[in-house]
This record gives sequence, C-alpha cells and structure tokens, in this order.
Amino acid sequence: MKGEKSKIIYVSGHRSPDTDSISSAIAYANYLNKKGKKAVAVSPGKINPETRFVLDYFKVKTPQLLLDARGKKLILLDHNEKTQSPKGIEKAEIVEVIDHHKVNFEYESPIYFQVEVIGSTCSIIAKKYLNNRIKLTKKIAGLLLAGILSDTVIFRSPTTTKEDIEIAKKLAKIAEIKNLEKFGIELKKQKASLKGLKAEDIIFSDFKEYVFGKKKVGLGQIEVVELDEVEQRKKELIKQLEKSAKNKNYDLLLLVATDIIKIGSLLLFWEKGNYIEKAFKKKAKNNSVYLKGVMSRKKQLVPPLTKLFSNR
Ligand code: MG
Ligand code: MG
Ligand code: MG
Repeated sequence: MKGEKSKIIYVSGHRSPDTDSISSAIAYANYLNKKGKKAVAVSPGKINPETRFVLDYFKVKTPQLLLDARGKKLILLDHNEKTQSPKGIEKAEIVEVIDHHKVNFEYESPIYFQVEVIGSTCSIIAKKYLNNRIKLTKKIAGLLLAGILSDTVIFRSPTTTKEDIEIAKKLAKIAEIKNLEKFGIELKKQKASLKGLKAEDIIFSDFKEYVFGKKKVGLGQIEVVELDEVEQRKKELIKQLEKSAKNKNYDLLLLVATDIIKIGSLLLFWEKGNYIEKAFKKKAKNNSVYLKGVMSRKKQLVPPLTKLFSNR
C-alpha cells in the first residue's frame, strides 16, 4: 500500500484512561522511537486527576487525545477488549497488544499479542527497557513507577507480583523517588476526594464495560482513603446507577468504592436480576454490599461475574 511504511503508529491505553494506560503508552511510544519507529502516545479520553499529578510531577507533556481511531494504525496497551478501546477501533488497523487483563480479543490477521500475569502494563514496558538495555530517563522511569504503584495500589492489590516490586525499586532509583509508600499515597489521594464531583462523573471516572454472553455489565471503580464520603452519598449514587443503567441498557451497573487503607470494597449497584448476591455469595442490602479484602477489579470482581453469567 502507498505510504504504508511511513504510517505513524498510535499507542493507546483504554477509555477512562488510568495512570497505567497513559504512562505505559508514553513509555512504549518512546521505546519505539528509540528503535527508529514512528510512534506517538495518545489518550482516548480525559486525563484523570491522579495521572495529571504524575505528568506534572515528572514534567511530561500530556498525550494528544485520540477520539476517532478509524483508519489509524494502533497499538493497544493495558486492555484487549474492544469495548474498552478508542472509538472507531473496528475500522482501525491493530498491530500489537500488550496487556495484563483477561483475554477477550479477536482479530482477522496475525499480530503481536503479549499478555502477562503481572501487576501493571508499566511493569511489562519497563522490562522491555531493562532487558534491551535501552536507557531509562528520569521522566520515563518516573511514569512507569507511577503506573506500577497506581495499578498495584502500592503493592497492596492481590495482582501484585514479586517482579512488580523488583522493577519498581529499580525505577525508583532512576526516578529519584526515595519513599515509595509516601509517593504512592500522595498519588492515590489525588483521585480520592469526591467533593464537587457529580454522581455520574464518580461512576464513570474509572469505568469498564464487559459483555458476558448477552448481558451487558458496567463496572466503575474509585479508590478512597476512607468510605465516609461514599456512605454519605450512597442513595444519590444508586439512583444515578439506576438512571444510567436504564439509559445505556446495562443488565448490571456497579460502582465499587475501594478503601485502600482498610482494604475492602463497598459495592453499590443496580441490577436486572439477582446477580450480585449470587456472584459474591453475600447478602446485599439496599443495593449495596461490603466485601472485605476485595480490591482488584480484574482478579476479584470480574471473575465471579464471568463465572455467574457463563453458568446461565
Ligand atoms: Mg488500566
Ligand atoms: Mg493496568
Ligand atoms: Mg486500574
């Protein structure tokens, strides 16, 4: 094809981008540039306050928005489900996927596809730099470190592996971050306040959509340092869940508020059937249930739901 060789590669994380998505995209585009490839990091949505803090902290330019992927050449990071990809993905050319989530991907031609059981996509990208002896600058190391700390909830999440911790320590040296716990909490606090946020914005700020058979499920997650603010706005949030679920045709719509200090999650939900009690084997009250020890969407929330809906 004419001009095919010089076609720029867009590196993109998932919608409702998080720090792991944005950091890994910037770092991987940079890595490809070093290898002589034309690549640019993009964001398929608005940057969240936590990621904003990280970009400012390491003085890194915000990636440009990619609101329409049609006709573009794309590398997908930190997700592989098309419902989470930038809009227009059906008409884009996907050349590579790097991720750490469950696989739900189909494509018409062979591509590079790398999924690892690891705490963050940033850990996978950091390994590429380290293994290939590509120089990590303070900025890139800082971004990658932030992605690891964010996704593993400062190594508290059950998704954390030994490798994540080892890599984070190496990155911290280069990024000159002395206290990982302190930096991690500072980072996590950026997103923690719900003050001034509309119920809808809270639900969709870190949101993922899944299709289980014929069921459409939406799962928003927020991380807080205490649950008080969520408890106080519980009724309002559930009302919004119902409204949004009906508008957007969800069978189940959830907001998971994760307490990163006490380690547990408060689930607020609206559902068409009795799904939550069945999936998590716990009695729910007034469209809410608290799950002790639960923090991870991919490891502790999505699997019981997948299982429930596949047994139907
Ligand atoms: Mg992510
Ligand atoms: Mg991730
Ligand atoms: Mg995440």
